[in-house]
Amino acid sequence: MEKTMEKIVNLCKNRGFVYPGSEIYNGFANTWDFGPVGIELKNNIKRTWWKRFVQESPNSYGIDAAILMNPKVWEASGHVQGFSDPKMDCKSCKQRFRADNLVEEHSKGAVSAEGMTNEQLEAYINEHKVKCPHCGNFNWSSIRQFKLMFETSRGTIEGEKDTVYLRPETAQGEYVNFLNVQRTTRAKLPFAIAQIGKAFRNEVTPGNFLFRTVEFEQMEYQTFCKDETSLQTYETIKQRALQFVEDVGLKAENLRFHDHEKLAFYAKAACDIQYKFPIGWEELNGIHHRSTWDLSRHQEFSGKPMQYLDPVTNEKFIPTIVEYSIGADRLTLAILCEAYDEETLEGGDTRIVMHFLPAVAPYKVAILPLQKNLSEKAKEVYSMLSKYFMCDYDESGSIGKRYRREDEIGTPFCVTIDFDTLNDNTVTIRERDSMKQIRLSISELINYISKQIEF
Ligand code: ATP
Repeated sequence: MEKTMEKIVNLCKNRGFVYPGSEIYNGFANTWDFGPVGIELKNNIKRTWWKRFVQESPNSYGIDAAILMNPKVWEASGHVQGFSDPKMDCKSCKQRFRADNLVEEHSKGAVSAEGMTNEQLEAYINEHKVKCPHCGNFNWSSIRQFKLMFETSRGTIEGEKDTVYLRPETAQGEYVNFLNVQRTTRAKLPFAIAQIGKAFRNEVTPGNFLFRTVEFEQMEYQTFCKDETSLQTYETIKQRALQFVEDVGLKAENLRFHDHEKLAFYAKAACDIQYKFPIGWEELNGIHHRSTWDLSRHQEFSGKPMQYLDPVTNEKFIPTIVEYSIGADRLTLAILCEAYDEETLEGGDTRIVMHFLPAVAPYKVAILPLQKNLSEKAKEVYSMLSKYFMCDYDESGSIGKRYRREDEIGTPFCVTIDFDTLNDNTVTIRERDSMKQIRLSISELINYISKQIEF
């Protein structure tokens, strides 16, 4: 079975996971809207992440910072000055590309463009006569820096508006609140601040469905620690990050670490976890050692001390940060890709089935009356179970067709109500992957399902 992005996009569109943004207006490039099952999947992924990194992590605290921040934040972070990509336009077909990607793709990864200057990129492209991947011509504009931050303005009087930015990352919300969280929780180093929220980037080459969009959600876990222990923290976070993505259903064979070759001047280490998407191995999340850089910059730009007072030694110092950041949408895409399967059943029938981990599946259980005249009993069961789980209810079409529909949205359990149910209060419960069926009494359902969907 070939797993292509096209198949996944089609399934997502047809089964209510993800629709193209503003579709009735012919869409709006690289924006996507989550539908009824997609939002359940994404929310469940965010919930499992929060459970793992906040609820079950000692010394870890969640926040939800504002998207619009004082513009000085982005001066301090370096984004106003430096957050841009080198772009080149093909003058023949008018397509736009990132010069660093052109170099890496042309050299099939043999040349790393990380850290190359625009002059070096242009020299490589000219020397190797790198052609436009779209139309095949060699007719480039010169490289220009493409600003990645979306700007908007605050204020109502024309001419007196101030430029503000849609945050290009959530990290600064954690950094500027470092002392607020420390003071109000009385946390001692090492401790972590977690946040899930939207970020916006005016990407040069968005695309590949949810992989690279201009508006996306990040899940971040920033650990504040002493510099002496920071590399040990970095290693621990790497392992925890890998464990999490395996635990939410990504196969180990489709995951790998990728160390950054060129580090920011302040960093001691940086890596990504890559996932084998249908488009190839690509970054799923980043883990970066950021030293004292961010807090030092905020101290300098805000004029407020960003130091931690060690209660034992009475020493004051700026902690080192180890950042772990993963895109919620990119992880949702990876989970969709991993779960997708086409199976041939006994008798030659085929089915598409999404093998989601039950904890992240959109619906946990579907209630299916065998015949319409059993719907009263079925609705009773639905109303009992829906107090505990997201449930689907379907009474239209043959039972086989209804099972197929539930398989396609990855519902781990289907409960069928038949005539015996009316007599003895038992139901058939069918498991999605094995398609095995067992008979259970209605009173056992909540316990049975709860155990299977634990994370
Ligand atoms: P890339 O090299 O792919 O542009 P990055 O190194 O700039 O990514 P980070 O700034 O480290 O990415 O962001 C952390 C995570 O946020 C990424 O690993 C990814 O999961 C997610 N992410 C970043 N940019 C996008 C985007 N445009 N669309 C969707 N998710 C994104």
